[in-house]
Amino acid sequence: MDLNQILSWLAQTNDAALTQLWAQADAARAANVGDEVQLRGLVEISNHCTSNCAYCGIRAANTTVTRYRMEADEILACARDARRLGYGTLVLQSGEDAKLSTDFITDVVSRVKAETTLAVTLSLGVRPKEDLEAWKAAGADRYLLRFETSDPALFAKIHPPRCAPLAQRLAMLRVIHDLGFETGSGVMVGIPGQTYESLARDILLFRELDLHMVGVGPWLPHPQTPLGHDEGPAPKDQVPNDELTTYKVVALTRLLIPDANIPSTTALTARSGVEGRELGLQRGANVIMPNLTPPAYRRLYEIYPAKAKTADNADAFDARIKARIRAIGRVPGEGRGDSRAHRRHWQGGQHD
Ligand code: SAH
Repeated sequence: MDLNQILSWLAQTNDAALTQLWAQADAARAANVGDEVQLRGLVEISNHCTSNCAYCGIRAANTTVTRYRMEADEILACARDARRLGYGTLVLQSGEDAKLSTDFITDVVSRVKAETTLAVTLSLGVRPKEDLEAWKAAGADRYLLRFETSDPALFAKIHPPRCAPLAQRLAMLRVIHDLGFETGSGVMVGIPGQTYESLARDILLFRELDLHMVGVGPWLPHPQTPLGHDEGPAPKDQVPNDELTTYKVVALTRLLIPDANIPSTTALTARSGVEGRELGLQRGANVIMPNLTPPAYRRLYEIYPAKAKTADNADAFDARIKARIRAIGRVPGEGRGDSRAHRRHWQGGQHD
């Protein structure tokens, strides 16, 4: 699929044609990653952030946020919850928080790996290569870092001058990849100023970066951010931040990288409800990330509004999501859900 074909799918409004796209994506999902829906337990370990991303509710300049940083023992308790609920992966995410030191994360990863068989994914923002090396040595398996948009001018518009430029994020993704992490990235759909052509290029870049995991969700305006009340003129080919466009990106990503792990994201669910989450799973996605963050912290990790409303007791959510997965004819995954492409590439590696 080339740029023009992706562009014409993104512009497609014909129901019959779209039904075909969904069916093709669903078939590619079934053939390449099967019927299991992989469950990754998400723990939002710190909402401290030194960055000022124009879209993000926990940006440094938002002084209305009460900041927290979880203790190692609290994170370990979440890892035990993940195991108890049968999840194969623990995802540790945070703001850009330098006080999450190299050694602190190394210690947490080592303890999780010593105590459980969980795969560990880190999503801690831009960090130096030395940190990544230390965390890989401690047993971390995967790293998630969205590039948000492949358009350097748009990237610069939504990130403050002192933030790492797009080229640095992309360079870090290559380092992550070459260190042997399963590599995850993604974008937001419908960022003010995002054009169809730039979104189509994002999708091509997913493949070029040889990603093992791709997460996409709609941009959701947060009132305490500059983009939340952006009144600049929209380009005439502005991408909407709606669920239909998000499904298209999920489906096209599945067709371009057939064995990728693709979540039906929390942002999509916040926008479209639980039906939307299921449609994501039926249009190319094969991963759900249940939130295991203790509720008192979860409420404070408000990268977009209404995220807190998705807050829920982990056990109640777990029972519901597994029932919903079965109701659409799928199977809750119980293993780690490793990437097949990654395993092939590093064959004989530690994951077999
Ligand atoms: N600090 C880490 C984690 C960021 S939060 C990092 O920089 O990688 C994870 C993702 O949430 C971001 O990469 C971004 O794509 C998404 N996000 C943040 N604010 C959002 C918003 N207002 N609407 C939708 N998605 C948002």
